[in-house]
Amino acid sequence: MFTRRDAIKAGLACTALGSHLPAAFAAGSFQMKAYLADLDEILRIDSKTGYAEGVNRVGQVFRKRFESIGWTVTEYPCGKNGNGIVASNRKDQGKFDIILCGHLDTVQPVGNAKRYPLTIQGNFAHGAGVADDKGSLTALWWIVRDLPKALTDKLRICVMLAPGEEVGDNDHNKMIYDIGRRAKYALVYEPGRPNGAFVKVRKGCTWMALDFKGVAAHAGNNPQDGRNAIDAMARAITKVTALARDYKGLTTNTGTVKGGTAPNTVAADARVVFDMRFLRNEDRDSVLSRVRSMCEKGFADGVRTSLSLPSDLSAMPEIDSSRRLMAVVEKAASDLRQPKPEWLVVGGASDGNALAQSGVGVVDAMGVCGGNLHNPEKEFLDLRTVEPRISLGKRVLEVFAASL
Ligand SMILES: [Zn+2]
Repeated sequence: MFTRRDAIKAGLACTALGSHLPAAFAAGSFQMKAYLADLDEILRIDSKTGYAEGVNRVGQVFRKRFESIGWTVTEYPCGKNGNGIVASNRKDQGKFDIILCGHLDTVQPVGNAKRYPLTIQGNFAHGAGVADDKGSLTALWWIVRDLPKALTDKLRICVMLAPGEEVGDNDHNKMIYDIGRRAKYALVYEPGRPNGAFVKVRKGCTWMALDFKGVAAHAGNNPQDGRNAIDAMARAITKVTALARDYKGLTTNTGTVKGGTAPNTVAADARVVFDMRFLRNEDRDSVLSRVRSMCEKGFADGVRTSLSLPSDLSAMPEIDSSRRLMAVVEKAASDLRQPKPEWLVVGGASDGNALAQSGVGVVDAMGVCGGNLHNPEKEFLDLRTVEPRISLGKRVLEVFAASL
């Protein structure tokens, strides 16, 4: 394996990475060496979600890049996540024809940038966050850096780099909703699937927290005076999880439980949090209303139950505008003689869900293909898909502009 450290030891600049690439990557008009140097620049920066200092440093790299081609760049403060970047080829950022979205943050703990630097092994690049999402962030830059003037004259393009996708808290989503309202279409540059597939539907994800309030008592002296919150929770778990059977593609997972203080005490408090995934927002609403009425009725005598939603992300459904975008991607792929896109329905959420909640038609996983995401030792970026995904992104913009 040729590592950056080896390069330094050998007295080579980072761009010397290119000389160790398989022959196919070193040839042709696409400059893999320069792409890898751009990727390396941001891989060296730790940008774990919530580590605002690092997230902002990655943002500044892109700010400079976009400003170097004359784009307007606005920073969007998102609380403890740091700042998002909104870059556009027009001064007026009030309305866009299309949004290209990626994220600046990773799940990688601070220190992993040093521990897992960019390395190349055969057709694959490795490094902490190399696929999710830094390889695709870099591809986004390569897509827009030299677009023909005729295209940028016609299209109002927004590149939105979000600062806290991996957690997706309210401060983060506020930015996505706000920018999302300014467009009808969005391409999300999450990594392409290892087999090259794209994502057309993402399930929504709602966390349902049930809190139970009973009455404490001594388990030996006066158990009859107690009202056990854990017993109520146990009944609730079987009743709530049984609801999923009534909805196609809906799942619930009993994620965390806690309760009680000691074995010899009737538990006064308990809490369970379910993760619910759903294809249709109507199904989520229906489950929530059924759970709400269960809670009102109660699960055990003398135990009060309340429902709250620590997180609530709508589904990214297939709608007319997303179908139009899928057709654009298919036409672009066929123009480039790339394989016909395969469209997936997946359970994991992304910023595509929040964009969809703003009414935007979304196509996701447009980025460079990769896998073993979030595992710093095994995460990989498939270098054979870098140039094809960049060409596809450019061609999609052309086909989309022609269709306006
Ligand atoms: Zn991601």
